[in-house]
Parts: sequence; structure tokens; C-alpha cells
Amino acid sequence: MSEQKLALVTGATRGIGRAIAERLAQQGYRVVGTATSDSGADSIRAALQALSPEHDAMVLNIGDAEQTETALKHLLSDFGTPAVVVNNAGITRDNLFLRLSEDDWQAVINTNLNGVFRVCKAMVKAMLKQKHGAIINISSIIGTTGNAGQTNYAAAKAGLEGFSRSLAQEVASRNITINCVAPGFIQTDMTDVLPETQKEAILATIPSKRFGQVAEIAGAVAFLASDDAKYITGQTIHVNGGMNMG
Ligand code: NAP
Repeated sequence: MSEQKLALVTGATRGIGRAIAERLAQQGYRVVGTATSDSGADSIRAALQALSPEHDAMVLNIGDAEQTETALKHLLSDFGTPAVVVNNAGITRDNLFLRLSEDDWQAVINTNLNGVFRVCKAMVKAMLKQKHGAIINISSIIGTTGNAGQTNYAAAKAGLEGFSRSLAQEVASRNITINCVAPGFIQTDMTDVLPETQKEAILATIPSKRFGQVAEIAGAVAFLASDDAKYITGQTIHVNGGMNMG
């Protein structure tokens, strides 16, 4: 097994996850990015191997407990223990509360919160043995501010931050940090689907007067993964153009 540090990035097919995977690859990590489909994994592999051949990709559905356990067992045996785990995969199923279905509630909690629990469950034991590592969970400004139409998403992201602070306390003595990065509105497929009127209304509330770029989230993740951040744990770094300064 090579000495190169391994980084696992969930949801690396596009958007923020792809930018994080590429940034960590450029910084010298061996990166394994995940997708929910074979074709998604192929596209991640091609993009990362264009940077350097050691990178790879795998299929992972964090909404499925059994598939996650099996896939991540393979990751440990085939690639070794990650030094960095980025829980980026996430979904939205927006609706005003009165119209929000049980299915849409469960889907978002199952992916954005239970999914991170499953990935950590599969990784933390090996990371404890390794006695170093960083887990970085991608939260959202909505976990702090709330947002009409996103009760499910806000609950999952607020839960993710509480989960991260608690796990951080359990593993800090073994040199493992657990932090969150909470993006504001970043230009990706997730926000491209918003109606123009809603985008304009959001822009009016951002002091920087623009949506963020995926590279700006990747930069915060790369910092938290680095040795410069070894004494930072249980924190949430907000990257939102000043949209929320609390
Ligand atoms: P995106 O473009 O919609 O990409 C989502 C990624 O998650 C895809 O790679 C997708 O894989 C993966 N994914 C979805 N369901 C999954 C599952 N069940 N198991 C494993 N992977 C799954 O999203 P994004 O905008 O880059 O957002 C990335 C993260 O940032 C999310 O956690 C999101 O909540 C958070 N965030 C985004 C914004 C924003 O403005 N964009 C703001 C705050 C927070 P497939 O392509 O295979 O489906």
C-alpha cells in the first residue's frame, strides 16, 4: 500500500463534491470519489485519472445501509484507511411543510443525516486505529438559519452539525478531527433548478452580491483536511458571502 494519503469524497460526480475531489487530488491525496451509478463512477474516474492515474471511483448509495457497509468494507481492503473523509453527498426534496410528504421527509433525513452516520460508522474504527484523520461534513447555511420549504433539509443539516460536534468529542484524543463546512448558495445543479425569481430574491440577501463558486467550498475543505487545522475540531466553517454572520 502506498504512503500517499487517501481521501474519500462522497457524491463526487458533480458540483461541490467534484470540486473537492479535484482539489484534494491536486494537493497530493490519492482520491476515491463516489457516485450512485456505474456511469457516474466512470465519469469521476476519468476526470480524476486525467490528473493522475492513482485516483479511483466507486459506487456508493449512502441511503442504503447494507450497500454502504459492503462498499466501504471494499474501500478499506482495496485502498486502505482514509486520512480524510468528506461527507458531501446530499439531496433536497423541497416543499412547504403542509405539502411535505412523509416520503420527502424520510428521503432527505435518510440521505443527508443517516447516510453520514453510515459512512462514519464504516470509517471511524479504522481511523481510530490509524490514530490520525479528518472527517469533513458538508452542512448548509440552512441548518443554521432555516428556510421556508426546507424543514426536512434544515433538520438534517442541523442534526449533522450536532452529530459532528458529539463525534468530535469522542475521537479528538486519537488525533481525529470532525468539522463541518456550511456553504451558503453555491452555483451547482442543486441551485440551478431554483426559479429565477427565487434566485434574484436570494441574491438580494447576499452581501457579496453573488452566488459562491464550488472552488470556494473546496478551499475550506482542503484547509480543514490539512495539518494547519489539526487543532480545529467540532467546528462549522460558514462559507456564504456574508449571507449569515451569526
Ligand atoms: P449536487 O450537484 O446535486 O450533487 C449531489 C451529489 O450527491 C452527487 O454526486 C450525487 O451523486 C450525490 N448523491 C445524491 N444522493 C446520494 C446517495 N443516496 N448516496 C451517495 N451519493 C448521493 O449537489 P451540490 O450542490 O454539489 O451539493 C453538495 C453538498 O453540499 C450537499 O450535501 C448539499 O446539501 C450541500 N450544499 C449545497 C449548497 C449549494 O448551494 N449547492 C448549499 C449548501 C449546502 P449522483 O450524481 O450519482 O446522483
